[in-house]
Amino acid sequence: MAENSMQTREGIRAVLETFRHTPKAHVQSFGCQLNFCDGEKYKGILQDLGYELTETPEEADVILYNACAVRAHAESRVIGRLGALKPIYDKNPRLIVGLCGCMAEEQEVRALLKKSYPFVKLILGAGAMERLPESLLAVYRGEKHRESLEFAGLPDETLPTVRTSSFQASVPVMYGCNNFCTYCIVPYVRGRERSRTPEAVEQEVRGLIEQGYREILLLGQNVNSYGRGLQTEIGFPELLRRLDAIPGDYFIRFMSSHPKDATPELIDTMLHSQHIEHHLHLPVQCGSNRVLKEMNRNYTSEKYLELIDYTRGIAPDFGFSSDIIVGFPTETEADFQDTMRMIEYVRYDNLYTFIYSPRSGTKAAEMPFVSSQEEISDRMRRLLARQREISEAFNRRFIGKTVRFLAEKFDPDTKLLLGKTREGLVLEAPGSEQDVGKLLHVTVTDAKNWALTGEQQPLI
Ligand code: SF4
Repeated sequence: MAENSMQTREGIRAVLETFRHTPKAHVQSFGCQLNFCDGEKYKGILQDLGYELTETPEEADVILYNACAVRAHAESRVIGRLGALKPIYDKNPRLIVGLCGCMAEEQEVRALLKKSYPFVKLILGAGAMERLPESLLAVYRGEKHRESLEFAGLPDETLPTVRTSSFQASVPVMYGCNNFCTYCIVPYVRGRERSRTPEAVEQEVRGLIEQGYREILLLGQNVNSYGRGLQTEIGFPELLRRLDAIPGDYFIRFMSSHPKDATPELIDTMLHSQHIEHHLHLPVQCGSNRVLKEMNRNYTSEKYLELIDYTRGIAPDFGFSSDIIVGFPTETEADFQDTMRMIEYVRYDNLYTFIYSPRSGTKAAEMPFVSSQEEISDRMRRLLARQREISEAFNRRFIGKTVRFLAEKFDPDTKLLLGKTREGLVLEAPGSEQDVGKLLHVTVTDAKNWALTGEQQPLI
């Protein structure tokens, strides 16, 4: 008969009591914010089981790599890092090494680990984090390899979390994706969309704000489809309005927004809010309608620009950022010129640019390339150069204005604080270590392509 969670916990505790030292666990996350958020839950589960968390893999009894499947290059790095753990395992054969996250959902990865890295005994797919205790116990009891792959449901709301920051917190509002963009592996490794209830999200956010958190980052592969399928359907703008009504001094940010589901109601909600960022990350990916169709993005550049025009019509300074993929297999120079026209028109604050990399199992991975790698690299170089000019010129709109700014870091050498404004822009301002984690008023004195600079104003 299967053990219940209490019995599993007691089983692990009994094993840990046989250790002659404090049992330690090391969790390292790679990839997107959602993965880092899952990593905080893995840490919470391990701490709850009796492990002390450590940043040093050499002293750990459990090492979990929580890795992302989105980019092939990042995956190879994780495989390399796993390989580098072998000497640690050789010195401590009781060490349990595990791979978790959406990378563990890939059959090819699992087959490779089983064949070439047998010391990786634990495999936990995205959404299988509740299986960690029973999987650990199975390995302690002698199982050579334990795989748990599940992504259909939502994580247990009561899972403990060890937050990395004392003032910035990520809160997933939904998991999975229904969109099947042809270049993307996410729907295959994270499953279909499922949303947390608004009550669960609100309770978590309220608790964080009461603890003094200053920035809440709401996460989902496509937050704009939040709420579909819930018993009482609710849209993302309505969720935002509920969260914005929580009293306190804080920012709410969110990502990612699929352009096909972003609406004027979303923009109106942001503009009329007290706490929500005045900036939208709206990944266009490409400016060419033909390529957008082949990417299965379900919008045209004209449709995308309608929302930009609507927003700038009522808030001319409103900032947008975007992801751009350069070198999609069928992208020609003419398609790339459409992307260049898009960045000229929108004047993004910031671009996250990627050279297309094929992911096996996706439709785009089967499409032949029509441009050479040299042509693609040259496009990327031109895109970055032009975007640098655009950012620098457009960022100057803030010079002389006073903005709210969350100080995230302090550099003792330069005595500068680094953080982000409510408008999502990076800003540097003189300050002190004590300012980190505070929301400050700063008057912008200069603008570079990557950041604003400013002077702190006395607290109002
Ligand atoms: S919206 Fe497209 S790119 Fe984003 S996670 Fe879903 S399939 Fe991937």
